Amino acid sequence: MDLRYWLPRAVDVVERWGEQFGPYQPHSSHLVSEEAFESAYDEFAKRMENNYPFFHPRYIGQMVKPPHPAAVVGYVTAMLYNPNNHAEEGGPATTEMERECVAALAGMFGMRDHLGHLTTSGTMGNLEALYVAREAHPGKGIAFSSECHYTHERMCQVLGVRGHKLPVDALGRLDLDALDHVLATGSVGTVVVTTGTTGLGAVDPVHEVVPLARKYGVRVHVDAAYGGFYSILARSDDPQGLDRRPWLAIPDCDSVVVDPHKHGLQPYGCGAVLFSDPHAGRHLMHDSPYTYFTDSDLHLGEISLECSRAGAAAAALWLTLKLLPLTPDGLGAILAANRRAATRWADLIDTSPSLRLYQRPELDIVTYFPTVPVQTLSAIDTATDRLLRDSMAAAQDPVYLSMLRTDADAFVRRHPQTARDAGSARVLRSVLIKPEAEGYLDQLHPRVEELAVEAAAPVGQTGFWW
Ligand SMILES: *Cc1c(COP(=O)(O)O)cnc(C)c1O
Repeated sequence: MDLRYWLPRAVDVVERWGEQFGPYQPHSSHLVSEEAFESAYDEFAKRMENNYPFFHPRYIGQMVKPPHPAAVVGYVTAMLYNPNNHAEEGGPATTEMERECVAALAGMFGMRDHLGHLTTSGTMGNLEALYVAREAHPGKGIAFSSECHYTHERMCQVLGVRGHKLPVDALGRLDLDALDHVLATGSVGTVVVTTGTTGLGAVDPVHEVVPLARKYGVRVHVDAAYGGFYSILARSDDPQGLDRRPWLAIPDCDSVVVDPHKHGLQPYGCGAVLFSDPHAGRHLMHDSPYTYFTDSDLHLGEISLECSRAGAAAAALWLTLKLLPLTPDGLGAILAANRRAATRWADLIDTSPSLRLYQRPELDIVTYFPTVPVQTLSAIDTATDRLLRDSMAAAQDPVYLSMLRTDADAFVRRHPQTARDAGSARVLRSVLIKPEAEGYLDQLHPRVEELAVEAAAPVGQTGFWW
């Protein structure tokens, strides 16, 4: 797919459609000359050089990658019409596309019934799910693990609901004993489970949480913002080493959030929230004096906390899913490659003299740290920081990584031989969200090893000044 062909084609499509409405005179107030635009654009393009190469396999930092070209063309084409998926009359075509995409996402999770819509982000989807949770269990709190996304705690504050932060097990998953304990107090109405934590990619035991929650009459919300698309593999014949059980329990939960702008190849501005009760929308119903005059069905805006939303986001996702559907051979092939890359890299790190695994990856996030001469938390933290900065600043062969702060207890639990001389230690975290990582590992791994050796050497022996 060549954008040089398809982007002008988008302009043609919209112009040809517009011609049927007859000519009109554009107002002079917003006309700009080609010269003025040229100089503004030059400045803009220059400013955009200040970026990290998210597209390149040497970037394995955060969960970021550019959208698929199909998403770009879908988005740009729809944006030229600029539909607003708040209501049917804001964009009939993209509203239909949104409903189809949401149905496809529900199918991906194996949900038997659903009500849902796209959101601008995972955070907004989670806010809406927790808002509905509060309405369903007024006066009750919300429980989540210390490894869940930091916005859950913040959203509890926004909603005026008490948040109960629970400990995790040795692999960063919600601790069931702690959950049982807090549920027994009767003060919790909803528990949040995460299938793929943002830090470690840890998958909470949804299949064990659901029966526990049901015993106490408590709701379960699944934050699958990051990991959700792994449901394709988990439900397939070849789950690539994933434990299927948490994923198979998602249809038994009350709500789920997934971010197509992470693994779903979409540009930012595309999350989704789905409820398994098709009547969950009653908690969100409202009357707007301005809109809703074309459809007797529920408008997307009637079941959503947000008002305006880009119809273009639905268009981009719809066009992408036409080409890469939510099947093992479609989008699943990308996730399988990410998984293979993560497992293989973990194996390489496991036998490397200069690197150590923090823990084995459950999805595609690999966490590790440089081998240091004397294993103390402070030495690991210092070497990690050095490695991260050196690897990005290298004039030749840079690598872009990210860090994760681990507390002393969590670290020593995994690596008991570590001297606990600090309250925490940062470790390296690489998100292998691009399938290209698989083919690039043979370059990447030796390079990160080399950087690790330099980062762990005593100051003054690396040939650099500090
Ligand atoms: C990314 C993420 C979020 C937040 O989603 P945004 O789209 O960044 O707002 C929430 N939960 C998890 C598990 C995430 O990985």
